[in-house]
Amino acid sequence: MHDKKTGTIYKVAGPLIVATGMRDVHMHDVVRVSEKQLIGEIIELRGDKASIQVYEDTAGIGPGEPVYMTGEPLTVELAPGLIEGIYDGIERPLTEIYKVSGDRISRGIDVPKLDREKKWDFVPYARVGDEVIPGDILGTVDETPAVTQRIMVPNGISGKLEWLYSGNATIVDTIAKIKDKKGKIHEIQMLQKWPVRVRRPYQKKVIPDAPMVTGQRNIDTLFPIAKGGIACIPGPFGSGKTVVQHQLAKWADADIIIYIGCGERGNEMTDVLKEFPELHDPRTGLSLMKRTVLIANTSDMPVAAREASIYTGITIAEYFRDMGYKAAIIADSTSRWAEALREMSGRLEEMPGEEGYPAYLSTRLAEFYERAGAVICNGKDNREGAVTAIGAVSPPGGDTSEPVSQATLRIVKVFWGLSAELAYQRHFPAIDWLKSYSLYDQKLGNYFTENIDENWSSQVAEVKFLLQQEAELNEIVRLVGFDALSEKDRLTLDCARLIREDFLQQDSFREVDTYTPPKKQAQMVAAILGWYHRSRDALRAGAEYRKIINMGVLGMIARMKYEPDNKWDGFYEELDQEMRREFAEIRSGGDAA
Ligand code: ADP
Repeated sequence: MHDKKTGTIYKVAGPLIVATGMRDVHMHDVVRVSEKQLIGEIIELRGDKASIQVYEDTAGIGPGEPVYMTGEPLTVELAPGLIEGIYDGIERPLTEIYKVSGDRISRGIDVPKLDREKKWDFVPYARVGDEVIPGDILGTVDETPAVTQRIMVPNGISGKLEWLYSGNATIVDTIAKIKDKKGKIHEIQMLQKWPVRVRRPYQKKVIPDAPMVTGQRNIDTLFPIAKGGIACIPGPFGSGKTVVQHQLAKWADADIIIYIGCGERGNEMTDVLKEFPELHDPRTGLSLMKRTVLIANTSDMPVAAREASIYTGITIAEYFRDMGYKAAIIADSTSRWAEALREMSGRLEEMPGEEGYPAYLSTRLAEFYERAGAVICNGKDNREGAVTAIGAVSPPGGDTSEPVSQATLRIVKVFWGLSAELAYQRHFPAIDWLKSYSLYDQKLGNYFTENIDENWSSQVAEVKFLLQQEAELNEIVRLVGFDALSEKDRLTLDCARLIREDFLQQDSFREVDTYTPPKKQAQMVAAILGWYHRSRDALRAGAEYRKIINMGVLGMIARMKYEPDNKWDGFYEELDQEMRREFAEIRSGGDAA
């Protein structure tokens, strides 16, 4: 079936098509281009001339061919069936498409975004007779063992719940009937559609105050992120952006993960597609895909689709947020998205801004990140939901003075700056502690102090101070040599080294080390600082520096991260006793060992 013909192609320039006779369309409407029915979106309208960003290969399409209007903006479909899905930038299900068309997506292919045949067990939650408003929960569907979708009253509909279904239903079956004030009956299906470029409504934003625990020591302890927070990971090629993002996708304590691969490298998305289904959530024992939606820009899609994928992803994240979940969206990488904007802007012959990026680059980035946050959701129960947004930035040559990094930095609240130098030294994750920051650190420090360990904030302050001191002392060493340092200063350097090597370095690929619970993080720091404080005292009391730095307990400190969680408590106690014993010996003048 064809949509109504509206215009005629006038010019084709790669993914940009200009058509005339486009009087009836609106900005951001989706159109179908040529008899091949390629999917495009109107991105500029001048008189009856429209510029269309086409999400499929335009080879072989030429002037004179027709353009059909759909009368709809670019929308995503929201309903049970989303989780575990792998979609392209415009929410076409890749697995289904591969089944229909093989490895290369044939153009103009029409596969429904979500399965319309599958039956879901709809469990009613509201009661017939209830007065309902948008966002109220009508019922639930156990979509996967890890995710229960809450089916909400769609935006713009309120009234009396006249009828509510119970039992098996497809996403297009009617599950509720709502009678509005005028007496009109609205039939509600589970399937909702939403235009991707419009943010989904909520009651109000609230200040995020709970951490999104990641199990990454560098992040949780030094630069924590809140549920509903926004962060960026800039770093040059090879510095570990992808590994950090995969770690977050695997370990962050979010209810839902939306992972967008913007085609950073050709094969990397395939890694995710292969690796994720095999990974298991340690908390539930289930496959991590049971809470994940993957959006992949395949190499056979033009760059324009990257643009759409960012919006598709954030809209899906908002949908789960609206149910009262804590969703996290991870975009790898926003630089590729910005390049797509630059390419389209160039083809539109817009006035270029810095380095050829369009002048509206920072506005677009801000609009994206602003859709993250913690909110009071729509609906009478005032539930809280959150979208945490994490974007990688891959500045060419690692130089963060370029426009995308700079524009991103002005927006985000957490900055995990990866350093080529640390990566070169194989210090992973290569998050540079001198450059990185988290504007949530105080608030979340309070949270950890109240809920995890009473010394959390004071320990973190001391760790940061010691790392700072190390940098300063290293500067002195560089100028006048190591011999110029006092034993007290040397001890500071020793402690900083323990922090770096035995705490901050974390091997993502080693099972015991890949995730550290917050309590253990605090105790690891406590052990290192405990050693440092006692060493300082011992030195002051006349103990020999040589003996202090050869203590056996330092070996235990180095082994801390390799102690499995179930043996940790015992190990920690042993370590504490050993430390006391050795220090007592040193102070009494003997050799500890
Ligand atoms: P980028 O995406 O920034 O180009 P990658 O994430 O692909 O960089 O990381 C490059 C390499 O660095 C990885 O293949 C891996 O060998 C190593 N690496 C990065 N982070 C870690 C980590 N946390 N633990 C162990 N190795 C890491």
